[in-house]
Amino acid sequence: MPEISHVRGLLTIRINQQQKLIKCSLCGSHGVILKGGKTWVFRSFNVYEDRPVKLEVFIPIFCCPRCKVQWQIDIGMADPKKHYTKAFSQEVIRKVKKMTVSDVADAYALSWGTIDSIQKECQKK
Ligand SMILES: [Zn+2]
Repeated sequence: MPEISHVRGLLTIRINQQQKLIKCSLCGSHGVILKGGKTWVFRSFNVYEDRPVKLEVFIPIFCCPRCKVQWQIDIGMADPKKHYTKAFSQEVIRKVKKMTVSDVADAYALSWGTIDSIQKECQKK
């Protein structure tokens, strides 16, 4: 279960994966090794409080000694390599329909480029 704490607007979620539940996607072995990981900070949106939040998520990296592959846990709430969650991009899209791009950029401290790429991604789906 994720561990959640809330400190001054920074909602922190730490995902502690049970190692025994992780298996290699190539050979199915449960003998995978935790190789470390990286803490990612995601922009997200709290719909209950109607305000942006930051999520700090520790994403573990596992390695299969048999296949010599390593991979990150897929956390599901954000697309790979994106620093904002799916909930956040949906909120930006909602706001852009009601406000100008410049107002949304100010409200969420985003660049126009980020808003533009969020809009393009949503058009693809
Ligand atoms: Zn393997």
